[in-house]
Amino acid sequence: MLLSQDAVNTVVEHLRRFQTSACPVCRTSEWTVSKVLFALPEYHARPVWNFKPSPSVTTPENPMSAGLKALGGAGSPDEVFPVVPITCATCGYVYFLSAVALGLVSR
Ligand SMILES: [Zn+2]
Repeated sequence: MLLSQDAVNTVVEHLRRFQTSACPVCRTSEWTVSKVLFALPEYHARPVWNFKPSPSVTTPENPMSAGLKALGGAGSPDEVFPVVPITCATCGYVYFLSAVALGLVSR
């Protein structure tokens, strides 16, 4: 999801409240705030590549999408963790801020 300029400004203002400027990898201090909101998917003990959708959820048109839908299971949708990536402009080190904690999305 694309963030509005106001949302990006919210992230920048949030970061300015803290003295966290040095990258832990290269020690430079130029960061880029993503303009796109991402979501980390919930971990599943069973790897996706071993997943076999039940015949009841597999459609002949697109068996892969049916399998992906089934990963959440009936009545138990996958959880996602919405994040804003912050990337070091020099080395590419990335860390995430919680979009919920930033107030960009609600729970
Ligand atoms: Zn760096």
